[in-house]
Amino acid sequence: MKSCSEVVSLLVEYLEGQLPPHTHARLEQHLSRCPACVAHVRSYQSTLSLLHSIREQDLPDELRLSLRAFLDREGNN
Ligand SMILES: [Zn+2]
Repeated sequence: MKSCSEVVSLLVEYLEGQLPPHTHARLEQHLSRCPACVAHVRSYQSTLSLLHSIREQDLPDELRLSLRAFLDREGNN
């Protein structure tokens, strides 16, 4: 795993267990020595649990769009 931005771009798939095993392993290797990415994982985990608890399609359009914008912005850090 070369860079933090690469890790961040894969975090959603990582947390949902959708990464291929070797990619998952490389990502965890990066996390083991990168506190900044661990902090990202924590913030994604709380965002994802929020998403899962309220089912995104049930949200009003406006709220869903701002949530998307938030996730996009986090992913581009
Ligand atoms: Zn990192």
